[in-house]
Amino acid sequence: MDSESFSARLIAWQEQHGRHDLPWQNTTDPYRIWVSEIMLQQTQVTAVIPFYQRFMARFPAIPALALAPVDEVMAHWSGLGYYARARNMHKAAQVVFAQNYSQLPTDPLELEKLPGIGRSTAAAIAAFSSGHRSAILDGNVKRVLARHFAIPGFPGTRAIENAMWTLAESLLPDKKMESYTQGLMDLGATVCTRSRPKCVRCPLQETCEALRLEMIEKYPEPRPSKPRIERHARAWLIGRGSGSVASKHHVRSGPEPEEFLLELRPPSGVWGGLWCLPENLCPELEANLLTEKEPQLIEHSFTHFKLFLTIQKAQWVGANDLQNLIVEESGQTVRNWFTLDEALGQGLPAPLRKLLQGLKKN
Ligand code: SF4
Repeated sequence: MDSESFSARLIAWQEQHGRHDLPWQNTTDPYRIWVSEIMLQQTQVTAVIPFYQRFMARFPAIPALALAPVDEVMAHWSGLGYYARARNMHKAAQVVFAQNYSQLPTDPLELEKLPGIGRSTAAAIAAFSSGHRSAILDGNVKRVLARHFAIPGFPGTRAIENAMWTLAESLLPDKKMESYTQGLMDLGATVCTRSRPKCVRCPLQETCEALRLEMIEKYPEPRPSKPRIERHARAWLIGRGSGSVASKHHVRSGPEPEEFLLELRPPSGVWGGLWCLPENLCPELEANLLTEKEPQLIEHSFTHFKLFLTIQKAQWVGANDLQNLIVEESGQTVRNWFTLDEALGQGLPAPLRKLLQGLKKN
């Protein structure tokens, strides 16, 4: 298959079946195209249309956007999400305006110098505004290329992405860049969709490797999952007051104790600044506990690891004024007894709050 065949089929398909009446089409104004391209990042076409129309009515060109207060720009973006996009657009408009230009450049290399405009967005603006021959490579295009050429590997890795840029450049047509670029976008959005692609309607089906191999679901490969780090710890849920009934060596479950012992974590680190269950007990404390037989296991996922916390329930049977029980550091109490309601009024890690709420319900 030569690149001419790839682009020719895509162009012919776009002209006949692609989208032609979106509010940001049928213009060569790079400003209008830029606003649409930024809004369409992370957001569906149907959601973008009303925002785009309101935005263009208030900020119809670079000077209006550059001179507007940032709060007003943000207000017009409110509801679209990913607000860095709006802040960058405002900054970019101010950069262009400060250089005494009232229009956005159409050269992709110039566009890429502006805040918030990456290589693919710059190429799209350049193609639609001036027919510039430069390749786009957003998530949709990566999916089409990965499937059509059966490209192994996760497209987010530098090596695969670089190879895809080279491939995308090699497929560019000599003319009709606008239809070609729009065709790639339309195909990715409406035919070669993430799930259940409509291959019978695809202009590239005759040469699609993933389709031939019947392995469409294998492409593009997903982000490799990192090996999960596991951490294990033990914490004490120590109660005192009425409640648990002591047998000779263990506590049998009964009504819950009146108070629980919690410790305040230092400001930094895991659960920093929150009240938690004590983990390391001095022998003197441990000697005054009666423990329940069956510890409880709690799992909690952090961004970088999974915590398996074994909760050992125990009843305090020592003297309440025992030294070391209530601890103060630099005038602040860092270990103390709390009733359930008092504890739930403190800053607690989510799994401990859930555990205590469960006790309260009981
Ligand atoms: S034939 Fe199917 S999998 Fe291949 S590019 Fe077209 S829609 Fe995508």
